[in-house]
Amino acid sequence: MNNIETLRQAIDDNSITVPKLAEATINHAKKLNPQLNAFLQLDRDGALSQAEATTLNGRSNGDADKVFRGIPIAIKDNICVRGLQATCGSHILRGYHPQYDATVTTRLREAGAVIIGKTNCDEFAMGSSNENSAYGAVRNPFDLERVPGGSSGGSAAAVAAGIVPVALGSETGGSVRQPAAFCGIAGLKPTYGRISRYGLVAFGSSLDQVGIFATNARDIAHTLRVIAGRDARDATSADVEVPDYAAQIEGDIQGARIGVPRLLFGEGLDAEVRAKTEAALNVFRDLGAEVVDIELPHAKYAIAVYYILATAEASSNLARYDGVRYGVRSESAMTLKDMYRRTRDEGFGAEVKRRIMLGTYVLSSGYYDAYYRKAQQVRALLRRDYERAFEQCDVIFTPTTPSTAFRLNEKTDDPLAMYLSDIYTATANLVGTPGLSIPCGMSSENLPIGMQLVGRHWSESVLLKLAHAYEQVQPFTHRPSVYADVLKS
Ligand code: GLN
Repeated sequence: MNNIETLRQAIDDNSITVPKLAEATINHAKKLNPQLNAFLQLDRDGALSQAEATTLNGRSNGDADKVFRGIPIAIKDNICVRGLQATCGSHILRGYHPQYDATVTTRLREAGAVIIGKTNCDEFAMGSSNENSAYGAVRNPFDLERVPGGSSGGSAAAVAAGIVPVALGSETGGSVRQPAAFCGIAGLKPTYGRISRYGLVAFGSSLDQVGIFATNARDIAHTLRVIAGRDARDATSADVEVPDYAAQIEGDIQGARIGVPRLLFGEGLDAEVRAKTEAALNVFRDLGAEVVDIELPHAKYAIAVYYILATAEASSNLARYDGVRYGVRSESAMTLKDMYRRTRDEGFGAEVKRRIMLGTYVLSSGYYDAYYRKAQQVRALLRRDYERAFEQCDVIFTPTTPSTAFRLNEKTDDPLAMYLSDIYTATANLVGTPGLSIPCGMSSENLPIGMQLVGRHWSESVLLKLAHAYEQVQPFTHRPSVYADVLKS
């Protein structure tokens, strides 16, 4: 199994050198990418020079640094890595090479991680299947005819396929947790403000967070510790202490209160997903947790609220792509206005255009009160629902997704059906609370099923501890058909 700790051990006992590991990882990525389309760019030279540097001077700066020294990672294409293209899965940013690292990139580099490349995603992180990428869909390593989920599908597929133990994604409404569930891995959306967004390309600024994919809760804990914390370059990053998440992960979960919003286990939920998540609840009961019923009266509005607010914010954030400052510029325009118009028309894909139009509409005078303001009001009610729920429980438990990974093209003609994939995830973004998805079984079609734990603000440790306790008794050992064991190469 390719996780940080096995790779760490292999490096520390000299079974593999850091440059060899980087080389093997790149080779695997190259070999599997024609099937998966998970990487938009691989950086062999950069990875090898980082690997060499790490080997020369890596061991100096504290515990977290030791854990990551020489570990290969992948980064979603909407997070800046200096010198590598950041297309965000969009044609409009083709050829845009940021001159700076995102703070998360810097922190991982400083911890000794080796960045092997940029991963494919839905255009500007808008989507739930990765089919909205201008560079083609990513495929699910468990079944190449199915989607990996989105929008961070490339990162999820890269981890699930064993290419890298950890990858970064981004979350606005479920883009880490949902693909994690579809690909049989763990995915964390941290508390709003937990991780700096400097260098993360903005989509919905009141919702966006960087998220983490890994094969288990402990690796998420290691990664979170390195990248979390206040950053002077992002005013929304909070000055809240960053605990040693991995050190807090052990221990029994006796007495933990798990809240179950029963109404969300009804209509629209696949029977196998329901059965496996119910079984997972029993595992938690056996581990000594107390399961209580809770109510989230406004949860049914979450998708509507999310798609009003996220599109409103996107329409404003994406105004900056005008052909002047970044990426491509239409060649055919005669006037400035024409150049803006054509650049945006040629550069953006259909879903992004749909969102810009929806977002502009809900913000326009006459409709603002009916849509945007109303959605903000319901968002406040959702926050209150969660506050009340957390008086009764420590975490809220649901499936991560209503179904397992769907087939390519199954939902592309029906945006609304696609939007409903986020029904269990979007609320955590609206409320700002952390959410973690981990695998809890397989369907009869051999597809992974994920469960979700959502906690109070800043309670990542609680989520990780519960997930870790579950993993100890129910380890997820299913490997996809497309899988590379990096150490056996
Ligand atoms: N699927 C959701 C959307 O399309 C969430 C995307 C995300 O979290 N970036 O907006």
